Amino acid sequence: MKTNSKEESKTYQEWFDLADSDGDGRISGNEATDFFALSNLSRSQLKHLWALSDTKRQGFLGFNEFVTAMQLVSLAQAGYELNSDILRTQVDKENVKPPVMEGLDALLEKTKSLAINAPKSPPEVNATAPPQKLLTKQWFSSKSSKKLPLNSVTSIIDGLKRLYIERLKPLEVAYQYNDFASPFLTNTDFDAKPMVMLLGQYSTGKTTFIKHLLRCDYPGAHVGPEPTTDRFVVVMSGPDERSIPGNTIAVDADMPFSGLTTFGGSFLSKFQCSQMPHPLLDEITFVDTPGVLSGEKQRTQRSYDFTGVVSWFAAKCDLILLLFDPHKLDISDEFKRVISSLRGNEDKIRVVLNKADQVDTQQLMRVYGALMWSLGKVLNTPEVVRVYIGSFNDKPMDEDFVGPLGLDLFEKEQSNLLADLIDIPKKACDRRINEFVKRARSAKIHAYIISHLKKEMPAIMGKAKAQQRLIDNLDEEFGKVQREFHLPAGDFPSVENFREVLSRYNIDKFEKLKPKMVQAVDDMLGYEIPELLKKFRNPYD
Ligand code: CA
Repeated sequence: MKTNSKEESKTYQEWFDLADSDGDGRISGNEATDFFALSNLSRSQLKHLWALSDTKRQGFLGFNEFVTAMQLVSLAQAGYELNSDILRTQVDKENVKPPVMEGLDALLEKTKSLAINAPKSPPEVNATAPPQKLLTKQWFSSKSSKKLPLNSVTSIIDGLKRLYIERLKPLEVAYQYNDFASPFLTNTDFDAKPMVMLLGQYSTGKTTFIKHLLRCDYPGAHVGPEPTTDRFVVVMSGPDERSIPGNTIAVDADMPFSGLTTFGGSFLSKFQCSQMPHPLLDEITFVDTPGVLSGEKQRTQRSYDFTGVVSWFAAKCDLILLLFDPHKLDISDEFKRVISSLRGNEDKIRVVLNKADQVDTQQLMRVYGALMWSLGKVLNTPEVVRVYIGSFNDKPMDEDFVGPLGLDLFEKEQSNLLADLIDIPKKACDRRINEFVKRARSAKIHAYIISHLKKEMPAIMGKAKAQQRLIDNLDEEFGKVQREFHLPAGDFPSVENFREVLSRYNIDKFEKLKPKMVQAVDDMLGYEIPELLKKFRNPYD
C-alpha cells in the first residue's frame, strides 16, 4: 500500500519498529494486540482490522500490511465501518492520515533514549535462524518429545514445511510414495505463488484472457485463429521480461516445476516460462495451456502425456478456468479426458463462457444449457459449477454495445470473476493446508497398502507366483486394507495406476508396517497442525 508522503512512511517505519518488539521484521499476533491497544478500538473492530490487513492469512503483518492496518485504524477512528469493501471503495487511501495512537509518542521517546544510553549489543546471529537440532531420531521417539517447537516457526507455511520434513516425508520415503503417487515436496512447492490454469479448446481465448487481466502482452504470447499456442506457458513475475525454455525451468531448484521432468523431453520442449515485472503477477502465476484438440483423430499428435501434465498442474493450481467459445460447444474426446483428469479438484473449477457477445440471446441460452448438460456428464459432481458469461479480450468493451444480455450483466459477471481471482491469495493458505492434510492421509493409506502387500508374501517359497497373484488381485487387496484399518474407499488410489508402478517393484523388498511412523503422522494431523493454525489465527478471535 502506498503512503502519501515520505514523512508518513518514516513515521510508520518508526511505529513498526516499535511494535515489532522481537525485531524479526514481522508483527505477530501478540505484538499486534499490545500495539493496537493504543488505538482504543473495540476488540471486534480490531478483529475485522486484522482479517483485512493479514490478506494472505500469514498470521503476521509485514510492513505493507502494517501500513494498511494503520490506515484502517484511522478510518475506523473516523467512524467508517471496517468491512471488505472499505479497501475497494471510494475512500481515498492516499489521503488517510496516520491514526491517533494513545501514549505512542511517549513510548517512542522512551525507546529512543534507551537506544542512545544502551551499550551496543553484538549482532544476534541466531535471532531468526531455525534451531539447529534436526530431529532425525525423533520420528521413532516416545510421545513426550514429539512436540515440534512451534515458537520457532514464523508462519503457517513455515510450520508446514517443518512438519513435512520431520513427520510426513519419512513415511513417504519408506514406502516410495513419490513413485506411486506424487513427487516429494520441496520448499519451492510451499513457497510458490497461487496459480491459475486456463484450459479450453483452440481459440477459446485463453491467451487473450491473460492479456486482458494483465492489460498487456507477455513475452512469447502467440494468439491467432490458427492453433498457435502449442505449449504450456507459465506466466510469472520476474525482474525483467524474458522467456525461459522448459528444459531450463524444470531443473531450476528455485522453481516449483521439477516434478514435470517425469513427463520427459518431448514435453519439456513444449513447456516455457514467461517472466515479467507486473503487480498482478506478484500475487498470482498463470498457466496458459495448448488448445485442446477438437477431433478424436488428432489424438496421436501429442508426443507426451497431455492429460497427465494437466492433472499435475491441476493439483498445484488454486483455480482452474475452463474456457468455452459459444460457437463450438461440442466437447471433444480429448477435452472430456482433460476434464476427467481434473477429478479431485472440482472445487477449483470455474467455467467461462467467453465471446458471449458474438451470439444472440436465444443462442446463448441454448449454448448455456448444452454446456451444463455435457459438463455434468463429464465432471461427475452434484455441485453446480459456477459459469461466468463474458467477453474477455484486449479491447475495452464497446460503450454502445447491445449484446444479448446487455452491457450491465457482462460487466457484473466480469467483476465477479475478477473478485474470484482477487480472493485467491487469501484462500491459497487454506488450500495449502487442505492439500497437505489430504496428502498426509493418502501417504498413510499408501503405507498401509505397501506394508500389507509385503505381509502377504510367503517367507521362502513361491515368491514370484505370490507377487503375480497380488498384482492380479490388487482391488481385492485394497479391499482388505480398507476393512482392516476402517478407511474410506474413496481415499484409495486408482488400482490401474498402482498396478502399473507396482509391477516394476519387488514386493518382497518392501518395508513392513512401521506403527511409530504412522503414529507420527497421526499426531501431526491430530495435534500439531491444529496447534499451528491456532498459533497463527486472528489474535482477536
Ligand atoms: Ca515480531
